[in-house]
Amino acid sequence: MSCTFDLAHYRELLEAAKAGGYTCAFFDADPRPGDLLLRHDVDLSLEAALALAEVEAAEGVQATYFLMTQSVFYNLASPPGEAALEKLRALGHRVGLHALWPRAELDARFDPVVAWHNPDPPFMSEPVAGAANAMEQRFFQRDRYRSDSNQQWRSGCPHEELARGEFEWLQLLTHPEIWVYDGATMRESMDSMLAAEREARWRQLGKDRIDLS
Ligand SMILES: [Zn+2]
Ligand SMILES: [Zn+2]
Repeated sequence: MSCTFDLAHYRELLEAAKAGGYTCAFFDADPRPGDLLLRHDVDLSLEAALALAEVEAAEGVQATYFLMTQSVFYNLASPPGEAALEKLRALGHRVGLHALWPRAELDARFDPVVAWHNPDPPFMSEPVAGAANAMEQRFFQRDRYRSDSNQQWRSGCPHEELARGEFEWLQLLTHPEIWVYDGATMRESMDSMLAAEREARWRQLGKDRIDLS
């Protein structure tokens, strides 16, 4: 099995977790043995989030998608943003707030859970008033946490350990853009994403009654 960052291997990761006896859990209770907390920080692309969400739903698993209200890359208040929120819920996923420190303004769109975008150590794991913090100590322990940041696993792809049931429980943070768009490096994946977005922008311009003749 090759650990490529694509949807085929993401599916294999989910299969490995099932083989290892893990079940999906969320940020609404302390993790218990056998829990798998699938977390997605949606930094760049709602389209990528939806593509990954469909794969998970087809595999019968549920994740928590952390969406931004202050992103420079997407607008959650736009019609596609609202549709994305609705679709994630319809597929059975949870939605948390991917917040820009220090603003964590939760409204009815979100479950009471926050994950800071690009957090600095002093506040990363600090409690948040009225919500869980995905990085507070009860959810974030070094040997029970893996992340694909910038298309690199710091401690390796966890599929083998998952299949063998080696984690007591695991918080698995993945970024949808990395898995949905092709590329062997973060730069290549971003190039694929931007190419797709260029096409999408042309379609949006047409819909916005811009004369493209
Ligand atoms: Zn792997
Ligand atoms: Zn982020």
